[in-house]
Parts: sequence; structure tokens; C-alpha cells
Amino acid sequence: MIAIDAQQLSAIRGEGEAAYPHECCGALLGKIDGDTKRIAAILPIANAREEEERYHRFTITPEDMMRAELEARKMKLDVVGFYHSHPDHPATPSEYDREHALPFYSYVIVAVEKGRSARLTSWELTENRDKFKEETIWQ
Ligand SMILES: [Zn+2]
Repeated sequence: MIAIDAQQLSAIRGEGEAAYPHECCGALLGKIDGDTKRIAAILPIANAREEEERYHRFTITPEDMMRAELEARKMKLDVVGFYHSHPDHPATPSEYDREHALPFYSYVIVAVEKGRSARLTSWELTENRDKFKEETIWQ
């Protein structure tokens, strides 16, 4: 499960709308509380892909990951997941998303339809990495 308050949710939606028609992406910083990830901050990450490949293909480089870990540590938080937007595309993970995902982390996807944020979902990879399962978002 993942707990994201209204402020963080609107920050993710805002990032998605600002990046439209491109994808936004970023890290979710928070704390693990039992089986719930509590998101306390988001950290936008510049999309590393080249312009023409940026639609539906977010990339987080090892340098991005290191910076996210450092920022999280400063706030006494951990990197517990990632978010990205799907411009004019449903909020369900693509095959590319699954191939590039890791177990444990949560993956939040916000659909952005014609520049306006729409459905927002969160996903966790199964342990054998064969598919994503949708997780409940608590506010
Ligand atoms: Zn995606």
C-alpha cells in the first residue's frame, strides 16, 4: 500500500501537466510504515531520453538515482518509489515500464489527457517480476 497526501498528489499532477506533451518523472521520498509506504516529498527528475523518444519512455539514470538517495537522506527519508506521466495514454504500466522496474518500489502513473491530469494509479512489481499489480492509494 502507498499513502500519498493531497499536497503530494497535486504536486505529481502538476508535474505531469507542466511536462505535457512530454513525460515527467521523479522519485517518491518517504518512510516505510509496516506494509505502507508513506510519501513525504517528491523529487522531480529530468527525463534523460532524447526529445523524440521521450513519449512513454522515462529513464532514471544511475546519477539521478544517486542524487535522489542523497536528497532523501538529507530529509531523513528513503527513495520508496517513482512516478511518471502518460501523456494521452491510460494510467497503466507499459511493457517498457515493466522491463525497467524493480521489485519493492512503488510506481505511480498519472495519465495526462490533452494537458489535464486524469487517472492516477500506483503499481508494484510482483516478486518474480512478471507483472505489475495495482496498489491502493491512501490519502
Ligand atoms: Zn510508463
